Amino acid sequence: MEKINDFIPGSLNVIAGPCSVEGYNSLFHSALALKEIGIRYIRGGAYKLRTSIHSFRGLGDSAILHLAQVAKETGLKTVSECTQTDKVEFMAEHIDILVVGTRNMHNYPLLELLGKIDNPVILKRGIAATYDEWMAAAEYIVENGNPNVILCERGIRTFEPETRYTLDISAIQVMKQKTGLPVIVDPSHAAGKRDLVPSLACAAIAAGADGLMIECQIKPCESICDANQTIEPGTLKQLLDAIPDLRLHLSRMEL
Ligand code: PEP
Ligand code: MN
Repeated sequence: MEKINDFIPGSLNVIAGPCSVEGYNSLFHSALALKEIGIRYIRGGAYKLRTSIHSFRGLGDSAILHLAQVAKETGLKTVSECTQTDKVEFMAEHIDILVVGTRNMHNYPLLELLGKIDNPVILKRGIAATYDEWMAAAEYIVENGNPNVILCERGIRTFEPETRYTLDISAIQVMKQKTGLPVIVDPSHAAGKRDLVPSLACAAIAAGADGLMIECQIKPCESICDANQTIEPGTLKQLLDAIPDLRLHLSRMEL
């Protein structure tokens, strides 16, 4: 399979798609809508780690195959979370970019195995991880032979219950300086509310993020998982339209 090397620090890499893959048709129609607005990477969870055992836990292997089929039909690149060591090989074969979710940032056997594949890996920050702990987790992947690590700030746990987590904007520049790795931001899980997603995304871009990962699908309110924070492609399009101007202003400020 073609490996990605076009995830470029400094350019705008936007990953969008549903929290979890809920079926082939809904994924395909969301993919078409995302492609239409210029998105190149589609996300979708297959193995969902849910707090409650009673919640929907994803379609498993068939979700990965749905993503691979959608990629074939649309030309989009795929992004999905790898939750366990025995899925690394299967996912590396079918998915372009693998994700380590917040709950697995400290899963060192998983990080080590992800160091042995060629696919880029998005390493999300643990909800209570310091910058140094997050950097040390990235080193497990890099030292095992995979330099293609992309860090993702997705909000940390604080005392504030109004938002789902608290987006740590400082993390973008600090982690870029400390590691030299690209840093993207997931405003969806940080906010937990769809009306906050565009402003947090703009803040991330203004702070120098190399990309965004956003939960977006054609029928956000019908999402089985994370409906409250999922936006529709029209909203994402408005956000994408605002970003070049934002970047132009910043470049004039020579920050
Ligand atoms: C997700 O991206 O769907 C997800 C579960 O994210 P996190 O691991 O950041 O909670
Ligand atoms: Mn989600």
